[in-house]
Amino acid sequence: GAVVWVGGMFAIYVCLRPALGTLEPPQRVRLIRVTFQKFFLWVGLGILLAALRVEGWPRDRNSSLEAATALGAKVNVQSANASESRQIAQVENLIAEGVDALVIVPFNSKVLGSAIAKAHRNGIKVIAYDRLILGAPLDGYVSFDNVKVGKMQAQGMVHAVPKGRYYLLGGASTDNNSRMFREGQMNVLKPLVAKGDITIVGEQWTPEWDPSKAQSIIENALNANDNDIQAIVASNDGTAGGAIQALASQKLAGKVAVSGQDADLAGVRRVAAGTQTMTVYKPIKAIAEAAARMAVDLVQGKTPAFNAKLDNGKGEVNSLLITPTLVTRDNLDILVKDGFYTADQIAGK
Ligand code: BGC
Repeated sequence: GAVVWVGGMFAIYVCLRPALGTLEPPQRVRLIRVTFQKFFLWVGLGILLAALRVEGWPRDRNSSLEAATALGAKVNVQSANASESRQIAQVENLIAEGVDALVIVPFNSKVLGSAIAKAHRNGIKVIAYDRLILGAPLDGYVSFDNVKVGKMQAQGMVHAVPKGRYYLLGGASTDNNSRMFREGQMNVLKPLVAKGDITIVGEQWTPEWDPSKAQSIIENALNANDNDIQAIVASNDGTAGGAIQALASQKLAGKVAVSGQDADLAGVRRVAAGTQTMTVYKPIKAIAEAAARMAVDLVQGKTPAFNAKLDNGKGEVNSLLITPTLVTRDNLDILVKDGFYTADQIAGK
């Protein structure tokens, strides 16, 4: 071991010496790093998250870090803390550091095009994680079937409220997923609206998926409709929580159907308590492992497993979409069986 290390480093030094003198300091650092990585067969991986506020994302961070490390990658994980300019700067920094691949959860799906084009020019593979990045050259996209998530949300509402007045509480307008969830929801609702069974009384996107903003959107909607709303198609558990608080202050929690997704612990507990009708379980371990595998395969020149192609405005993106699961009060036990929570956690013990 030690002999290989010392010998290797000496060989690298000898080979690089002539080139180093001609380079600017940042490029020098990059050349040294990349050469070391190649010599020791490391894959340098940058994982960039949009924010860690919403309950599920720290779990994505931990699982992807774990999965990528297990595959032998050297990982640098960062969160943009809900700032698109910070996320662009993080991409630039990781390009300068000389990573081999970037796995990105975009905060804003539309603003990373030129940063990613630059990563590509530097030979870095780029994968969008959970949320598609628009208008950028991508080597892969790993997510859940988000149109299906939207369908499940609407199906859950239609099952509980076959006829009635619906409000559509969307996600962040900066997140491409919000539109995919809406597409799936409308696939289910459109024919029922045409039939006259369902009336959509209003719809709004929730800035940054913020639960307190969702709460005021629903307060206003209840007010404008004299509380005559029977179902709220909320696009995730966080916004569902805000909506349910608005309902609670009108003594309507549990009387109005509310959808969600993520199987957040708070959401799961509301499903158990009956104030939230359903959630969607998306096994985070599966997406994190798939992303790590995809990144390492791409860097090593292997073809990753793909099962879909999605147009992101720049071209067809090779994608791997994992199947989500609809969860109601009747099948909450699958979360325990899958190791996502213990029964005690769900029971609040
Ligand atoms: C994800 C959801 C999440 C939401 C807010 C979406 O892009 O698909 O799982 O709840 O962002 O973070």
